[in-house]
Amino acid sequence: MLKHTFYSVFILLSICTGLPYITSAQTPKRLKTIIVDAGHGGTDNGAVGQYENSLRSKEKDVTLAISKKLVAELKKQLPEVNTIATRTSDVYQDPREKANIANENKGDLFLCIHADSGPLKTGRRQIGTRTVTRYHVSYKGKGKKRKKISKPYEVVEPVYEHFKMPLTRNGTSVWIFAAHKTSEKLKAIMKEEGEFEIEAGSDSTYSSFDFNTPEGKAIAQVYAKRYQEKSDRIATLLNEEVDKTGRPALGINQRQKGIWVLQATNMPAILIETGFINNPEDERYLNSDKGQQELAEAITQAVIRYKAQLETPHTTGN
Ligand SMILES: [Zn+2]
Repeated sequence: MLKHTFYSVFILLSICTGLPYITSAQTPKRLKTIIVDAGHGGTDNGAVGQYENSLRSKEKDVTLAISKKLVAELKKQLPEVNTIATRTSDVYQDPREKANIANENKGDLFLCIHADSGPLKTGRRQIGTRTVTRYHVSYKGKGKKRKKISKPYEVVEPVYEHFKMPLTRNGTSVWIFAAHKTSEKLKAIMKEEGEFEIEAGSDSTYSSFDFNTPEGKAIAQVYAKRYQEKSDRIATLLNEEVDKTGRPALGINQRQKGIWVLQATNMPAILIETGFINNPEDERYLNSDKGQQELAEAITQAVIRYKAQLETPHTTGN
């Protein structure tokens, strides 16, 4: 569980003393534990490929496959680091459970693996014609003698089949939840009265948690402020590593609305939208051993560079 009382006391103390409350809980100087979270699972499929000729793959399966390869790669490249997966099978986890696993294991970095999707345009094409009978309706006479006359006639009309067009957009993007220096994002957190989405367009079952309470908002604020710089750094490094693979690196994004699990984790955290499951090229890439391994290696390279910067601060330039 999140330590509400602890932080409330801390925040109160800081208000009373004027001291910054994050000093005694500084961000880790060493990268000792990494949490890898395969998004979705079990009854929660996440996005599904559904354009014409799609593999109909499910995001939950893709994220699990990539996460498994990522955990293996991290263990291989960084054997001194403890790498923990939130799930290793097709099970449903409440995002709260995912956050608890991360927090209870005292993670120093949270890597959340997802796949993107976008709204599909529908299309149609003519596959033939058919003859249909229609009727001209007219009336004769007036009052009670009024008579309806239907005159049949035939028309030839086109027959269409309908389909969903695949997304043209592809590539990998990285998401962080951050309290911006200008405090615009912070204001968004503090003012947020509505739902905190897990991700755009998904359900809001967990929106009732507690980021809507004054305490919850304060915690979200603390987490976001404390970890923004480091989350941003790992996101930037990952974007560079994706770029090296030759696939589109779509950059670093912040969401106005929260990504629940990123807010609830007491550590630097990023969400990786590995690719678009509704784009044919990306869907095949995400489902291939080669693609999954390439992503796992790119993420691992970013983590290795992040770790080096973290543990040798003079090389970071800030
Ligand atoms: Zn997702």
